[in-house]
Amino acid sequence: MQSFDISRLMYLQRSDSLESDIGRQNAIEESMATYSVKLVDHRSSTHAETAAIAATIARVMGLAFVGTRDSVNVSWGSSAASDDLVLHFVEDIAHSYLRQTWPQMTVDPNAGGHTYTHGSLAGTELYRTRPSGPLHLRRYGALAFHEALHNLFPFRSDQHTAFGGGIAAAHIPDQDPNDANKAFLRQGFSVRTRQLL
Ligand SMILES: [Zn+2]
Repeated sequence: MQSFDISRLMYLQRSDSLESDIGRQNAIEESMATYSVKLVDHRSSTHAETAAIAATIARVMGLAFVGTRDSVNVSWGSSAASDDLVLHFVEDIAHSYLRQTWPQMTVDPNAGGHTYTHGSLAGTELYRTRPSGPLHLRRYGALAFHEALHNLFPFRSDQHTAFGGGIAAAHIPDQDPNDANKAFLRQGFSVRTRQLL
């Protein structure tokens, strides 16, 4: 009788342990997300350029997730359907990647980047040079954050005025995102938006 009680006790312990492991794993999967931000180079960017640009974009977008369980992973490579945000990097507007899909697209000639949406499909490109010259590498963080707000809300067009000002404003100031900007970026990433690959 004693051996029966012991084996039953061991079974229950193992069962409880297994259930709590599964429960813990489910809780982690539900509450943690790593959003993939993919940078696609359509020019012959140098290592100095790609390293600095990825670093500033990771820093500025990462500010939105400080104190949360979620994060962004910024990398250069080929776009994939699994990416949450795809940023195409081209030399200038004359070398637009988005226009291959949307030939009628118009772009402010002084823009550092542009986002175009068609229904639920969103495409974003960043420019290395403008008529005034190359952008400072450190400016790509705020620029990418700004374009992400356009990209991740394809059915809205009031980002410049209704997303808290700051770096959501049409003329992007040289500063980090404010709390409203960060909240909108988190909200944007929380719903998958189909990307122009
Ligand atoms: Zn804008």
